[in-house]
Amino acid sequence: MENCLFCKIVKKEIPAKIVFEDEKVLAFEDINPAAPVHILIVPKSHIGSLNELDESRTELLKPLFLAAKQIAAEKGIDKTGYRTVFNTGSGAGQTVFHLHLHLLGGRSFAWPPG
Ligand code: 5GP
Ligand code: ZN
Repeated sequence: MENCLFCKIVKKEIPAKIVFEDEKVLAFEDINPAAPVHILIVPKSHIGSLNELDESRTELLKPLFLAAKQIAAEKGIDKTGYRTVFNTGSGAGQTVFHLHLHLLGGRSFAWPPG
């Protein structure tokens, strides 16, 4: 999709520190990390948010979670704990409207979230 920041990162038109890539998924370091480990995991095909998910596209979720699990192990946060978050809509803090799973770790997290 034109003018989508994360589509441009997927197409390598904008640089990012990539930590994982396969046919369906790209994962890269967040530019403004909220934790010592803060990775964004995105489907290569554009979808704006969970609000746009329907039965025909549920398959795009699976590789996001498998990538999160693998990256968490590689970063050594699988035992200490990590948080995986989708922000959906501006009221929840979504600022980039290309679905992305935040993988956060390396510190402790409060609950409920702010
Ligand atoms: P959201 O607020 O939509 O849930 O998350 C968007 C995330 O994208 C934020 O954590 C923000 O720091 C990150 N971000 C925004 N612009 C860029 C960029 O150009 N490159 C990278 N790597 N991350 C970005
Ligand atoms: Zn996009």
